[in-house]
Amino acid sequence: MSNFSRRRFLTTTATSAVGAVLLKGCLGNPPEPSGTASSPTTTTPSTSSPASPTAQTAGAAPETTQAKLGFLPIFEAAPLIIAQEKGFFAKYGMTGVDVSKQANWGSARDNVEIGAAGGGIDGGQWQMPMPYLISEGLITKNNTKIPMYVLAMLNTQGNGIAIAQSQVGKNIGLDSSKAKDYIVGLKQAGNPFRAAYTFPKANQDFWIRYWFAAGGINPDTDVSLLTVPTAQTVANMKTGTMEAFSTGDPWPARIVGDGIGFIAALTSQIWPFHPEEYFAMRADWVDKNPNATKALLKGIMEAQQWCDKKENRAEMGQILSGAKYLNIPATVLEPMLLGNYTMGDNQPNINNFQEAAMYWKSPRGSVSYPYKSLDLWFLTESVRWGFLPKDTLTNAKTLIDKVNREDIWKAAAKEAGVPDADIPTSTSRGVEKFFDGKVFDPENPQAYLDSLAIKKA
Ligand code: CA
Repeated sequence: MSNFSRRRFLTTTATSAVGAVLLKGCLGNPPEPSGTASSPTTTTPSTSSPASPTAQTAGAAPETTQAKLGFLPIFEAAPLIIAQEKGFFAKYGMTGVDVSKQANWGSARDNVEIGAAGGGIDGGQWQMPMPYLISEGLITKNNTKIPMYVLAMLNTQGNGIAIAQSQVGKNIGLDSSKAKDYIVGLKQAGNPFRAAYTFPKANQDFWIRYWFAAGGINPDTDVSLLTVPTAQTVANMKTGTMEAFSTGDPWPARIVGDGIGFIAALTSQIWPFHPEEYFAMRADWVDKNPNATKALLKGIMEAQQWCDKKENRAEMGQILSGAKYLNIPATVLEPMLLGNYTMGDNQPNINNFQEAAMYWKSPRGSVSYPYKSLDLWFLTESVRWGFLPKDTLTNAKTLIDKVNREDIWKAAAKEAGVPDADIPTSTSRGVEKFFDGKVFDPENPQAYLDSLAIKKA
């Protein structure tokens, strides 16, 4: 994987030399704890805002204190919401961050296209590979290319596949092969099983396709797929718009709680510690505001560390429940935040914190660091289903090197005093394993594609 990151590494080494010297001077010896104002003579800018007396001095002052970040009302947004509400953005000098709820993924895309200058957003929370599709002009108006940078992963797990109450007793669970005859039979009878996700060709579409295909059900020919906005999940399942829904917490569990369905699978069961959603910004904003970008990242990283502490999850539920954010009672959110899922349809419940959403670290290592190998899986899966042309894999390295800015994540982590042990040394997370025994080796994505029985490519 060394070749994968080599060019980026060379660039980073050259440009971060000055920063490294400042960092050394600033942290002194021994290093001071995070959040302590230190060595004002070396790096504290004279223009330092009085509104942020605790601003980190490691790293230069942000070029702007303002950024407009979009989010969707699901657990994935927690690092952005917590960074805002707990003052972590302000701590690093970003006192004018606007964390703005988006009506749906299409709106987020439209808003980043116009940018904050045009009344939209500078970046925020994204499903993968949306930042790639936007960068390449594949889902934008008139196919305009809006270059974006992927800067951090927001979370792992915390997503699931919910099934409508009308399907109780049909054996629809993690192993979808047990329901294959039933589901394929519906199609043959002219009444196909309808499965929804929140935006096509991204995470939720991939999870439900993977789950169907693992059980021998072809998502393109055996069922009917449709897009439903996150906020309409519960209402649409109640009115019978669809039989299945793939989305982020708390929506699947709400469906169980409201007695309108059950959970067939959690994404933590399909692919433990899988990549979920990401923090990405418009490239022009990042290029213009490199220090502000690192300040945002430091705020997000601190929020992610805070979110991962089990003892903070109750407060986290309280904050997320706010009307500006998820607008759902904290009592509904808290069980899921602790890994307690009522599955329904006579399936055993899950009570395991390891299956809850995680934000900073998992048993697979860093959650926050945006591994290039995981971006490659999303591109490979896009090829699998014919969303992207096959030659995407030939050009993947160039494309990923352009969009994935793990170098900025690393620079921000170092400035924030993140221990070396928590800063990955490789851009590859290595071989990934799925619940059905399939293996994705980022060194050979074609072998993964070849191993899959159901695919378009
Ligand atoms: Ca999600």
